[in-house]
Amino acid sequence: MTSFKREEPTLGEKIPLEIVQLASGFSEIGESYPADLDRVPLESLPILRKAHFRSVKDSLLNRARKRSGGAVILGSGGTTSEPLISVIPSGMFLKQIRQVWDPLKPDDVVANLNVGGELGSMFPFFSSLCDVSNAVSVPLGPLGDQKAVERWLPFFEAVGVTTLAGTPTQMSIVLGLLNETNRRLSTLKKLIWTGEAFSAAALEEVKRYGPLEMYGAYGSTETWVIGVSYPECPVGTFHWVPYQHVEFVEGQVTVTCLDTDCINPIVRYQPGDHALVCECACGRPRAFSVEGRADEQVKFLSILFYPREPYDVVSSHPDVHASQIILIDNGSPQERMEVQVVLNVCDGQVDIESATRSIRDHLLGKLYRLAHETHDRPERIVVRAVEQLNTNPRTMKTPYIVYRSSKKEG
Ligand SMILES: [Zn+2]
Repeated sequence: MTSFKREEPTLGEKIPLEIVQLASGFSEIGESYPADLDRVPLESLPILRKAHFRSVKDSLLNRARKRSGGAVILGSGGTTSEPLISVIPSGMFLKQIRQVWDPLKPDDVVANLNVGGELGSMFPFFSSLCDVSNAVSVPLGPLGDQKAVERWLPFFEAVGVTTLAGTPTQMSIVLGLLNETNRRLSTLKKLIWTGEAFSAAALEEVKRYGPLEMYGAYGSTETWVIGVSYPECPVGTFHWVPYQHVEFVEGQVTVTCLDTDCINPIVRYQPGDHALVCECACGRPRAFSVEGRADEQVKFLSILFYPREPYDVVSSHPDVHASQIILIDNGSPQERMEVQVVLNVCDGQVDIESATRSIRDHLLGKLYRLAHETHDRPERIVVRAVEQLNTNPRTMKTPYIVYRSSKKEG
């Protein structure tokens, strides 16, 4: 490997011992830590995952209450009663982040399109970032569909929005409307995206719109910001921030926070993404590219596959603008797969029937195990053309796989 090869740090040298003691001090996970913490290399410590994190919830909240420095309780995933709780110091590590990534200037007017409330992390992050950058913050929240965006556009012009902060899904709704109606926001110059990967379809809307500076932040609610990107970086490539120590254990992002303000147990924590160390076109150090979720395999009919496989195959079809895999009644004897596609429309003409047939043939041609399984029950895989994919209204993300029960279908 190149200059990225690093000596495995011993605790107490590069990794503050307090950070590891913080994790080992949680009674729920403490037993898996060695007694002589000050002498062991980092790699001998256990890997923590979401399930560990979930198990320390009560102690974590207790710790947050006892803290003198102030904290914010955030959450992700799960249901309303069982969100994955994360406690972030009130400063949100912004001082450390802005040492290497400072996308906002005082003359920026930022439309914050992230979900404001429901424990969402991105909205308060961008509010605070505006605050410390002396920029103007416009706390809009998700605008919903293009009709709603249409109503807000005069306001965007009136306040002089320079920056959209949100998920790629949210941005593609705004830019998609502007592209379709051949309009431009005269003051818009920047996008700051986070929360999900940039789909090819969303990126296409950005390119169609014209030159915009793109900044990105990659991380999770538990770890906080792990990597950041700049306008010169390819989309999906990030540079890890100096307050995080990042390992790539079996291809997975594995994070240890180096800042002793940390409240969460972030020691060799895996948020669940695959990534590769790389060199970035921008020339900055500590680059990695995020390669998608480290998903578990899904069982459908009698075969096992990674959800990404059918998604990638369908997305590679020339008629497909965007796609989503819906697994209906997964695990039941009636389970079936519906592939929803937004078709590319050329000159306003599209033969939906022949396009969806061709996409289905393409999918089964590439994934022969699926073809074999559905040979005598073709109704188990259906390709359906839709105008818009399913978006999670709470997070404004567009997942590439959706699990659904037929009982909830309208
Ligand atoms: Zn870069």
